[in-house]
Amino acid sequence: MNNHVTVLEIDAKAIKHNLAFFKKQLQPTTKMMAVVKAFGYGSDSIEVAKIIKDDVAYFAVAYAAEGIALREAGIETPILVLHPQIANIDSIVKHRLEPNLYNFKILSAFLKYADEAPLMNYPIHIKFNTGLNRLGFWHNDIGNILVDLKKSNNVKVQSIFSHLAASNVAEEQDFTINQINNFAFIVKEMYKHLGYEPMIHILNTSGVVNYAQAQFDMVRVGIGLYGFGNNPEVTAQLKNTHTLKTIISQLHLIEQGETVGYNRAFVAKRPTKTATLPIGHADGISRKLGNEVGFVVINNQKAMIIGNVCMDMIMVDVTNIECKEGDEVIVFNHQQIVEYMAYKAETIPYEVLTGISQRVKRIVKH
Ligand SMILES: *Cc1c(COP(=O)(O)O)cnc(C)c1O
Repeated sequence: MNNHVTVLEIDAKAIKHNLAFFKKQLQPTTKMMAVVKAFGYGSDSIEVAKIIKDDVAYFAVAYAAEGIALREAGIETPILVLHPQIANIDSIVKHRLEPNLYNFKILSAFLKYADEAPLMNYPIHIKFNTGLNRLGFWHNDIGNILVDLKKSNNVKVQSIFSHLAASNVAEEQDFTINQINNFAFIVKEMYKHLGYEPMIHILNTSGVVNYAQAQFDMVRVGIGLYGFGNNPEVTAQLKNTHTLKTIISQLHLIEQGETVGYNRAFVAKRPTKTATLPIGHADGISRKLGNEVGFVVINNQKAMIIGNVCMDMIMVDVTNIECKEGDEVIVFNHQQIVEYMAYKAETIPYEVLTGISQRVKRIVKH
């Protein structure tokens, strides 16, 4: 049992609200794929899946093990595995997960497995690289992909997709539109020779916000479900889903000139009251937030983090805050605080959320 008093509360109603916000942006025929990789962006993928499973067409995870966890929790919704490995093919099929096949190595391996099993019309997804240069076939692979696919009735292409490189960057609009156009061209070629028309999709959260014309058959929304639109106007219409809380373990009164924490990084300029909190960099608090950069909220007042962030603890200045040992501490309970933490730690909300370690207990509020 995890008795760590530092907890991450997941707001089920907020997730539903955010999902509804994005579904409202969609054409009636466009389906929703909810991205729940990386523990549901640091929340709890199983709980998130249970909350929204009846309102989405698909779930997406990065790795096979993440999909297996959903199946073992009883989730029956189709699940796309975005980044499967050849070593996982057998467990992918046993758990009825749908692999993204992104190069000839994994395509051939899957077709061989499907032939030997044998599988019939097993749903697979084909990804094309249109400029992110991360995963996916190139447009000039189409001919060879079709040769492989047309020989096989062991698999059926459920969708053809691609991923945008800069859907949230206004200056990259030309590049993005070019990606979308290249994708549409690839799809046309695939449709012409495949003999049937799989679903197609290219938009992530920022894509839905900025390129509504490219919704096609489905969109893949991740960060938006968790309250961030990568855009202040959108984020303002979303609800906060993650609240990170802890308590005060101990208070100390120190004299002017005394120091706090490792390397004596904080030196008291006056008599100071400090609070020690059971949360540190091993829980997901960046060391960049130490030394009066980051803060927590205690009894509605900001308490700056003083000294270096330790692995398991931080110390905060509560000189002017009325508080006692055991009082509740809010690390964040609003998107703006997460954005501030991300900015100060030189990262993005995605990393702040997914960086909350598995030591922190997750609690779902319905
Ligand atoms: C993570 C991911 C998404 C979701 O992106 P968000 O910006 O979080 O909406 C969509 N598609 C792919 C391929 C991804 O890897």
